[in-house]
Amino acid sequence: MSGSMPMDLLAKHARPVLPGAAIGIFGGGQLGRMMGIAARSMGYKVHVLDPDPACPAGYIADFVIEAGWNDRWAAANLARDCAAVTLEIEQVSTVSLDEAARWAPVRPGAAMMAVIQDRIEQKDWLAKHGFPVGPYRVAHSTEQLASAVQELAGPVITKSATGGYDGRGQAKLGFGSSAVDGAALRKAWEDVGSAACVVELALQLEKEISVMVARAPNGELKVYPPAENFHENQILSWSVIPAGVPETLVTEAQQIARDIADTFALEGLLAVEMFITTDGTLLVNELAPRPHNSYHGSERACVTSQFEQAIRCACDLPLGDVALVQPTAIANLLGDVWLQDDGTVREPAFDQALTIEGVRLTLYEKLKPRRGRKMGHLSAVGSTAAEARDRVLQAKAKL
Ligand code: ADP
Ligand code: MG
Repeated sequence: MSGSMPMDLLAKHARPVLPGAAIGIFGGGQLGRMMGIAARSMGYKVHVLDPDPACPAGYIADFVIEAGWNDRWAAANLARDCAAVTLEIEQVSTVSLDEAARWAPVRPGAAMMAVIQDRIEQKDWLAKHGFPVGPYRVAHSTEQLASAVQELAGPVITKSATGGYDGRGQAKLGFGSSAVDGAALRKAWEDVGSAACVVELALQLEKEISVMVARAPNGELKVYPPAENFHENQILSWSVIPAGVPETLVTEAQQIARDIADTFALEGLLAVEMFITTDGTLLVNELAPRPHNSYHGSERACVTSQFEQAIRCACDLPLGDVALVQPTAIANLLGDVWLQDDGTVREPAFDQALTIEGVRLTLYEKLKPRRGRKMGHLSAVGSTAAEARDRVLQAKAKL
């Protein structure tokens, strides 16, 4: 034990964190908000750190510390007042996480976050540990990007090593009849921020699924039923639990998620995004060590929602049952739903959407709609996954 470690830390680590205590969350976006609501429901206090004091979690938190992801002083302040700390975003610096860990258990911890928050490290880690990933190269310059495209011999998607999400920090090269000339390479390089990136062969996808796994500090592990995900413009459009894939693929996907969680000695949630290619191969796309958009439906689909599960992991409580209760679909509501072609804002017809059977509405209280910005989601239950999905899409069409 290091000399600088506070005296009560061992005691703090040794016991489950029981309701009444405060939970610290790095990030106050919709994921932090929904985790915070779950924590509140269980009787915890909620402290949030976010650069934006008007963040979605601000409405439900006891405190918001306005600070950036690299602010170790603010991280210490967050953790000092909390009995456990968790996160909703990958970008929190490991320096901040390490600092927070001097004051309270941080779950998931800095070691795993260091691997996941850099796409290059993450891909290399998956490949090194024998998990199936699609063909990829790493590029640190336009020249390396050019060789990567040549070696992969097909259309590629470049992804910046850090900071990308919802398709941001990504560029496509060589799709359709577009030439991969000097100008195209320079543009792609600029689109990923003129910095190190992963270059992936663009795969023919049959389906996308994700598998949420939760692992407690003592190694207890729960794997959710896979979700099936549909993306538009590289942003999740809708998602349904359970995924309509053969039982053998479900087993295979869940085993991969379990193995990744165990290899990392995960403490917390991990969403494993996967591709099923048209030839039936299962590949890991990327990892998200937090609640995931594709499991928003778990509040209604499963015995224990991903948000409560995240809090249970952070607090070292027994994990909740993840069995399927009823098929549930969600559809994201992006700012585009609010914005007219001429840029003016109109309130969507939520009253109309809610006439559809089984449908519920969740909004994140974001004040300004922007194109591509996640403002909320609709969810729908159904007797089958197809019915749940049809209902949620029907409801969305009424907006
Ligand atoms: P993000 O961090 O933005 O979610 P992803 O790597 O998950 O980044 O990419 C977003 C989406 O883009 C994926 O869900 C998938 O639909 C598409 N995509 C990404 N990589 C590939 C690929 N190699 N082949 C085909 N589609 C891809
Ligand atoms: Mg993704």
